[in-house]
Order: sequence, then structure tokens, then C-alpha cells
Amino acid sequence: MSERNVLVCSRVKDNDKPVPLSSYGVCAGCGEELWIAPSSRPYLDQLVTMCLPCAAAKMDQDDIAPDFKMLPGSLEELEELHERDG
Ligand SMILES: [Zn+2]
Repeated sequence: MSERNVLVCSRVKDNDKPVPLSSYGVCAGCGEELWIAPSSRPYLDQLVTMCLPCAAAKMDQDDIAPDFKMLPGSLEELEELHERDG
């Protein structure tokens, strides 16, 4: 298992509807700009940020089973987003 957990973020170019108040980050794999949701910000010093394709490639390479977790607050953010669009 790798030493650091990966925060998977959507790429700015792929997502024009980020969670409100998202800030910018950079993918550790490819250098693409990422959306960092407000709920993720307190954890940034403990996590490596990656886009989905890079995270998938890393999991492949490391041969580890993905262990997805929601950060506290991120589910609420997604629900908010859903309500806003719906
Ligand atoms: Zn990437």
C-alpha cells in the first residue's frame, strides 16, 4: 500500500460545474488543473491530488485494490450540487 492517500478530483477542462467555492489544484500525475472542493481543503497536506485517469493508472501500477472513501462534507456538497441542477 502506498504511503499517501490519493484525492481524486475532476479536471477543470472536464467539468464546468464544480462544487461551489471550489479552488484550483494540480494533478500530481499529469499536471492538469483540478477542482478542489471546499470539503477537501483541510486534508490537502495529507493527500496527493490526482485526476481520475492518473489515479486509475496509479492503482493499476501499484496493483492495489481501490478503497474509496468520502471525505466528511463531500456528500453534502454533491447533494447541494444535485439540488441546484435539478
Ligand atoms: Zn492527471
